[in-house]
Amino acid sequence: MKISTNVKLLLSFLSVLISSSSVIAFPHFFPNISSIPPSFLPNTTTAAWTAFHNLSGCHSGQKVPGISKLKNYFRYFGYIGNNNTNNFTDEFDESLESAVRNYQLNFNLNATGELDDTTVNQILKPRCGVADIVNGSSTMHSGKASSMTGHSVAHYSFFPGTPRWPSRRRDLTYAFDPRNQLSDDVKRVFGSAFNRWSEWTPLTFTETSNYLTSDLKIGFYAGDHGDGEEFDGVLGTLAHAFAPPRGLLHLDIDETWIVDDAIGSGSTTAMDLESVAVHEIGHLLGLGHSSVEDAIMFPTISSGVRKVELDRDDVEGIQVLYGTNPDNNGTTTGPSFGERETSGGHRESLALVQMLFVAVGLGFFVL
Ligand SMILES: [Zn+2]
Ligand SMILES: [Zn+2]
Repeated sequence: MKISTNVKLLLSFLSVLISSSSVIAFPHFFPNISSIPPSFLPNTTTAAWTAFHNLSGCHSGQKVPGISKLKNYFRYFGYIGNNNTNNFTDEFDESLESAVRNYQLNFNLNATGELDDTTVNQILKPRCGVADIVNGSSTMHSGKASSMTGHSVAHYSFFPGTPRWPSRRRDLTYAFDPRNQLSDDVKRVFGSAFNRWSEWTPLTFTETSNYLTSDLKIGFYAGDHGDGEEFDGVLGTLAHAFAPPRGLLHLDIDETWIVDDAIGSGSTTAMDLESVAVHEIGHLLGLGHSSVEDAIMFPTISSGVRKVELDRDDVEGIQVLYGTNPDNNGTTTGPSFGERETSGGHRESLALVQMLFVAVGLGFFVL
């Protein structure tokens, strides 16, 4: 009798564990690509937006299965108004053509309104879940006129109303959702990401263990997690964060996150955690998306790429909101901008060094 009661207790305990883990599970972190077991690597053919491949070449006037899903994509990121919420058809209509054209403008592509290969490839890239166009006003391409050319130049943006942390709150605290049970290694990645913003501003960021009272709250979640912004499984949207003073930074628990690969993993499915964290912190502080491809606030990032250094565009934007770091010289002409850390750059220089060694080796052999 006593045994069966214990078994029942154990079963109910296990069922609580299982049901709670379906809401909050544990994210998967790996130090680098070679530490990921092959069986664990997610299948990209089932990734969130893979089916959009089939829409390459589509243009206005056509009716193609899958167009309605693409309209949902454009609605999610602000390119189609919220009035047209449901009942999307598979017609490539005027509203979709205009959405595609605005998307192309924001991403520096030829603004044809047609789904050419380049546009579809850009659409497929993993990205931030924050909309590019908020409340109908384009926040990415509405740049100020360049004094040199008189043309509009794309640059940093803010959320509507330019929300920012008030001047009495320059020392912000951050904490991690305790349910994720993050390791110190993972927490250090966020610490490094915060430092990249404090270096250029009067803001400071201090970790606290008090999740409920911290200014900034970081957590990994799956699917619908209660804020109306669902995550979508492998790739697709990677993370999102809310403008000041909400202070919420959420990451998709279904991604495979790389935490310790200084040159970028080159993986086709794993994402560099710090790269995504630096971007989302920009939103926590009040920055919107930028059309500048090298900027941290550009909305997309490819898997396996590491991009963690602020661009001049990011620094100029954040300093409009908060001013310069009094401990730094605060100018945007520092050396950091010439030495951007990306996987591509390191790969190229590595390849060059390898070629030099081969050339020197061949020279010796010939001699
Ligand atoms: Zn974003
Ligand atoms: Zn969320």
